[in-house]
Amino acid sequence: MKNIAIVLAGGSGSRMKSKVKKQYITLGNHPVLWYSLRVFQESPRIDEVILVCGSGEEERCRREFVDTYGFSKIRKITAGGKERYHSVYEGLKAAGSCDYILIHDGARPFISNEMLERIFDCLADCPACVVGMPVKDTIKVRNTEGFVDQTLPREHLWTVQTPQSFSYPLIRQAYDKSMSLHYDNAEQRQEARAQINEKERLEARTITDDAMVLETMMNVPVKLIEGSYDNIKITTPEDLAVAETLLGRYND
Ligand code: C5P
Repeated sequence: MKNIAIVLAGGSGSRMKSKVKKQYITLGNHPVLWYSLRVFQESPRIDEVILVCGSGEEERCRREFVDTYGFSKIRKITAGGKERYHSVYEGLKAAGSCDYILIHDGARPFISNEMLERIFDCLADCPACVVGMPVKDTIKVRNTEGFVDQTLPREHLWTVQTPQSFSYPLIRQAYDKSMSLHYDNAEQRQEARAQINEKERLEARTITDDAMVLETMMNVPVKLIEGSYDNIKITTPEDLAVAETLLGRYND
């Protein structure tokens, strides 16, 4: 059994309004990215880590995370792409064949070994598993004029987090299919498009997370299990302040 974690750190972090990208900002005594890398490094379930960073940041990441911090499970450091899903695809190609892939936002420092254990328990029964939490607020759909269009039934609503975890052949097949919709090469695109229907093409445009790629491209059910309310994604300066508070709960 070989399991690989893809840790995404290829975003520009523009909403953080900081000179330092959010994944490298210091939280406590370490960069934000250090926290999830440490959990993967220490988990007996994870064999290798693929770190996806911004283009040109590969050497800096190698020096900092492999040489200085000694995260020996990092097998490859590869440049990501324009959108998150491009970065995931680079990570999937760099990972190569394995049993399970965990795709994780490096901007989420507060994963835990217990969470990884819940994920692997789930993967024993189904090939696709995503962590999330039930929403606490009421969620409404707002129309283009700014009015409430509908109020969704809260008992079924969850916010989705990462890691998002999958059987490798399945997620690779789903991403290959999805990415074939985004080919720049006209010939390749034409060939790929001949194989998919209009509904799939429309859905491919609005994909916002990895589970969705599987749902829409492969029609495979994805199990949603409990992550943690602490498992926040650091996106804005307010999130950093919350993270500083949460840090006390995690051993440094
Ligand atoms: O932008 P967002 O907050 O959704 O990013 C989630 C994660 O995906 C972050 O860890 C970010 O670094 C990563 N990402 C990436 N490549 C991109 C965009 C985001 O690796 N092009």
